[in-house]
Parts: sequence; structure tokens; C-alpha cells
Amino acid sequence: MVVSYKCPQCGAPMEFDPETGKLSCAYCGLITTIEALEADPQENVQFETVTEKPETVQNENGTFRVYRCPSCGAEMLTDSVTSATVCAFCGTPGLIQDQLTGEKRPTKIIPFALTRQQAVEEFRDWSKGVFLTPRNFTQASTLEKITGVYVPYWLHDYRTQIRLDAHCTRTNVVRHGDEETTYTQHFNVVRDMDVDYSRIPTDASEKMDDATMDLLEPYDYSDLKTFDMPYLSGYLAERFTYTAEEMEGRARNRARSFAEQTARGTISGYGSVSIVNQQINFRKTNEEYVLLPVWMLNYRFKDQNYLLAINGQTGKRVGTLPVDKGRANGVFIGLFAGLFVLLTLLGGLL
Ligand SMILES: [Zn+2]
Ligand SMILES: [Zn+2]
Repeated sequence: MVVSYKCPQCGAPMEFDPETGKLSCAYCGLITTIEALEADPQENVQFETVTEKPETVQNENGTFRVYRCPSCGAEMLTDSVTSATVCAFCGTPGLIQDQLTGEKRPTKIIPFALTRQQAVEEFRDWSKGVFLTPRNFTQASTLEKITGVYVPYWLHDYRTQIRLDAHCTRTNVVRHGDEETTYTQHFNVVRDMDVDYSRIPTDASEKMDDATMDLLEPYDYSDLKTFDMPYLSGYLAERFTYTAEEMEGRARNRARSFAEQTARGTISGYGSVSIVNQQINFRKTNEEYVLLPVWMLNYRFKDQNYLLAINGQTGKRVGTLPVDKGRANGVFIGLFAGLFVLLTLLGGLL
């Protein structure tokens, strides 16, 4: 079932607006809070729903589900994990309700804080700091392809119990005339501590590049809100492809190194420290399924794909901007030619 929120005043589609944290209508400017919508959906905003079951189609790119756009009736193609999309023909946001209910319903969300316009400005600003991006990179036609995506993550909480046994030494040298004596004291140092580590994020999407997603961190989790479908209106979203259990290995590795660092950090003041024995026990205390905001730009330049991403909450940038080697050569030739002329002139003067 596709759900979209329509403006009660003019009937145009409403989208989540990062600036106000509310739903706004791009046509008549009406603004509705998500709470008001929750309290009385019929009164505040009309839900437009299409109850038809999706058909599926197959083409060379795979199998797609076909929904019908609630506004214009065009076909909306989605893959098996899409939970929010936008009609390619009329721009109406469509939320796929059966991908957002039951165990597929996220518990929390960090809504976009950066507007599309701010994201575009960020990309422009980013390219200014980089030597020679391709000429068309900052053109409107490139930057309008920026998409706001809610990426599925698991947040894992662990209590780790760590027991460390270390052999440590301290030495001092005492001088008697010509004679030097080295004294070494030996210590058995034991640490037994509980370390709580909460909200270890793991990217639950198969499609998203793990390295990029890791670099987008940290998110500020104090902005986590209880999940509500209207937050997704106007953005793309997908549901998890990996379960929390499948991501547990990655999360535990992070909890392990955090516990190790914490425990080892308490051993100081020795000349040498060597760990003799180390034992870590994990206890999962909580896990949550959340959606986190990312502005993305896929840019293709000279047969190469560039994935550029901006954290939709903090503005942190991840990715490498393309460099136009043709332009770079042009500049170097220009530089050397200039230098040559200068040297020739200087030579003439001497
Ligand atoms: Zn309106
Ligand atoms: Zn449409």
C-alpha cells in the first residue's frame, strides 16, 4: 500500500521540511506538525492510499514491485527493500506502508536537519576547496540529482565485562661513584571492570558502502525521535537487508576494542606493560532499528563512478571529488609557459 500526505488546503503533496521539523506544502505554504497529524490524521491531512497489491516486473536490472502513484497514476517501480520513494513523473512522495510496519517498522529516526538547498550549498562549497573538479560538477543539472536518503542502521548496546592481567615493571638506576645499579620492580596488575557501550551503529543496508557509512559517523543520537512515517515524505528510504543478528559480529568488534582501550587506559605509570591474560564477556542490553539521514550524489565522470555523501544531520562530508586531469594538465602547461617567459625575460635583463 502506498501512502502519501496531501495538503488539506490545496491537495498538493506535503513533504517533511528539515528547517521547521514539520510537514509543509510547497504550493500554498501550509505547515502541519507531525504530532497533529498523528493525533487526528483525517482532520489534519488527508492520507491518500492505494490499496492495490503491487505487481512485479522483471527487466535486466532485476525484479521490481510496481505501485501506482496516488496522484498521477503512473507506475512507481521499487525494489524489494524500498520503503519511501518519489514518483518519477509528478514528484509525489510515496511511502510503502508494508515495508514500515511490524518488525520492519523502525523504532526511531534522526530527521534531516540539512535542507536540500543547504546540501547543494555544501556540495558547491566542497568543490571550491578541491583543485580542479570537472567543469560541469557544480552545474545545477548535476546538483539537482542530490538525493536525501534515510539509511537503515542497527544501534547495539552492550555491557562488556573485561578482566585484564598484566605484568608491569618500573626501573630506576642508582649511582655509587663509578658503579651503576639498576633496580627493577615487578607488578602483577589486575583490572576487572564493567564497561557499558551504547548505540554502536552498524549499517544494515546491503546497497550502501560500509566504509562510506562508517565515515559519516558520528551522528548525534540526542536528536533521535520516535519513528513516524511523515518524516520520510519527500525522501528515499529503504528497510534493513541485514538483521541485527547478522550485524552482531561488527558491533561486538567495536565494543571489544572500546572495552580494551578503556581497561588499558587505566594502567599507567609503569616503564613496561605486557598483557598476560585478557577475557571479555559480552551481554547485549538493547538493540534498536533506526533510520539516519544522508544526502547523496552519484557522479559519473570519464567512466568512473563517484559516491559523495553528506551527513544529513551534521553536514560531515565523505567521498573524494573527481579531478579533471585534462584541466590539470592545461594548468600546468600554462604555469610552465609562464615561468619560461619570465625566465627568458630575466635572462634578457641580465
Ligand atoms: Zn497546500
Ligand atoms: Zn505521480
